[in-house]
Amino acid sequence: MATLINEGKAKQLFTTDDPNIIQVHYLNQATALNGKRKEPVADKGVVNNQIDSLIFNYLNQQGIATHFIKQLSPSDQLVKKMKMVRLEVVVRNYASGSFQRKFDTEYLLKFDEPVQEFYYKSDRLDDPFINDSQIHALQIATPEQLSTMRDQVFKINQLLNQLFAKAGITLVDFKVEFGFDPDGNLILGDEISPDSCRLVDSQTHASLDKDVFRKHTGNVMDGYRTVLSRLEATVK
Ligand code: UDP
Repeated sequence: MATLINEGKAKQLFTTDDPNIIQVHYLNQATALNGKRKEPVADKGVVNNQIDSLIFNYLNQQGIATHFIKQLSPSDQLVKKMKMVRLEVVVRNYASGSFQRKFDTEYLLKFDEPVQEFYYKSDRLDDPFINDSQIHALQIATPEQLSTMRDQVFKINQLLNQLFAKAGITLVDFKVEFGFDPDGNLILGDEISPDSCRLVDSQTHASLDKDVFRKHTGNVMDGYRTVLSRLEATVK
């Protein structure tokens, strides 16, 4: 019988008959401020599971090693059991969010080269920025592991930029997480969805992601549904 292993902000993780595989159940709720604000949002789990499954299928097909095995049902998927690295790996193609605030840049300033940052995963500390030598001092990852994650995340950025561009969507920035699979390989895990990406319509720059929920500027599901239907049209 499936037992609940862990409940996060947007997902529940369950055991399966295979100790190396877990079932991810996407919840119909949205959070902001590192979980301090939490609200039910109808259909969000189903839409995010479909967006995430489509993106991870695409990345697997393009040769990126990921935890994703298959979509199981509208709100569930099977993934490899991972031991996660306690880092959020952020890539930015345009200025927004904390980068825009920190350096007081114009919104959507385009970078010549993508910017990459690490944050230490800790709700208690509000996920602080962390640099390479701080990561080594805290023994979170070795220099080789950091360089593997950097190489992978830049490849992932290129592939996602191509996918979203075909859908008329600009990938402003995104966050991913890596971990070790049961064979000890450092591979991509967690989730890629409008909860963890900033996405804007390439023409109008309308926000299609969680910023709508964060800033109370409209119905968050309108943007999420647009992202799903446009991605589905590009992979058909
Ligand atoms: N992000 C995330 N989880 C976090 C923090 C950030 O998924 O705990 C994503 C966020 O959606 C955006 C990117 O990482 O796509 C960069 O976020 P930023 O540093 O600008 O922070 P924010 O201002 O969004 O808190």
